[in-house]
Amino acid sequence: MSPFNDSTSGKTTSPATRAGGILTIDLDAVIWNYRRLCLELGNVSCATVVKADGYGLGAREIAPALARGGAETFFVATIDEGIDLRGILTDAGFADATIYVLNGPLPGSERDLLATRVTPVLNSVGDLELWTRFGRSQGLSLPAAVHLDTGMSRLGLCDKEIQRLIESPEMLAGIQLEYYLSHLACADDIGHPENTAQLARLREALSRLPRAPVSLANSSGIFLGRHYHFNLGRPGVALYGVNPTPYQTNPMRRVVTLQGRVLQIRQIDAHRGVGYGASFRATGPSRIATVAVGYADGLLRALSNRGRVCIDGHLLPLVGRVSMDTFTVDVTSLPRDTLRPGSLVDIIGEGHDQDALAVEAGTIGYEILTSLGARYHRVYLGGER
Ligand SMILES: *Cc1c(COP(=O)(O)O)cnc(C)c1O
Repeated sequence: MSPFNDSTSGKTTSPATRAGGILTIDLDAVIWNYRRLCLELGNVSCATVVKADGYGLGAREIAPALARGGAETFFVATIDEGIDLRGILTDAGFADATIYVLNGPLPGSERDLLATRVTPVLNSVGDLELWTRFGRSQGLSLPAAVHLDTGMSRLGLCDKEIQRLIESPEMLAGIQLEYYLSHLACADDIGHPENTAQLARLREALSRLPRAPVSLANSSGIFLGRHYHFNLGRPGVALYGVNPTPYQTNPMRRVVTLQGRVLQIRQIDAHRGVGYGASFRATGPSRIATVAVGYADGLLRALSNRGRVCIDGHLLPLVGRVSMDTFTVDVTSLPRDTLRPGSLVDIIGEGHDQDALAVEAGTIGYEILTSLGARYHRVYLGGER
């Protein structure tokens, strides 16, 4: 019998007490952020992007909270995310929500998409033909969005394919065209010339295509102004508190709090190494706290000797390499009785949010959130339940 089996081990402590890390997700803040984005969009509708399990925060909790907050349209990346989300939203009483799959249909997936009323974003003429052919076989004109590539060179109809569509608009006759979609490459840089260039390319294409509603702006795009709004905003990361306007103060509320559990506090002599590779050596007698969160939990190894955590209002440095299950902090500057085994330190919190941690790791808030691991004890607050 497994020594880890809960039913036989007679665990008496609460999971919050046992966990090496506690991840708290403020669903009220997610809803507040959604409403803030709606306000920015004025009369334009606001969809929500909940791909990658709600940017790592748990689509099962996030999506119903957003629906209770008024969201009606949801975007995910993959077909399976779309099918799962249909189940989640139906269970929560929102069976009529609209769900789009950004990565598009794959040959063989058509029946599942239709059965779960998940709408594909068509990213090529091949996708358009696939979906039209399937619709015809069912005697239906099926809903879809058509993605026009205006500068990402990632997904969507390329210039040549857009030209084909302009010359043969009847190619769109077999589907129910809900939206033209395009995606901005540089929206987080308000002065970047690629923003206006993409907008001009999109306008040019639209002026020659059959009319339909349009969606362009992601989180950052919404803050570029109303020329970028068209008929539907498509924010993801801003819902989760990441700053969509890195060139100015974050207009969003922080959603995530991540606390790590102190396992030990040890006194070390000058010149003693800390962690794998002895990459840190104390310059004088030091106190080192070992915290039960590591790279297996998504605390990126790039934070080794670079990251900081917040203890009692003080930002203190991670020293040594981040290990799989632990990291180490220099707590020499703290009063001796501040920490004890079992204490919690703030990895993401007030005064040190996911964006600050991202800068220290040389990455972006998106990657910090979507890397958050499975071992945390997760706590969801609010959400209008
Ligand atoms: C992920 C994604 C979004 C959401 O982007 P954020 O920057 O998280 O707001 C919108 N549209 C497309 C096509 C995406 O891939």
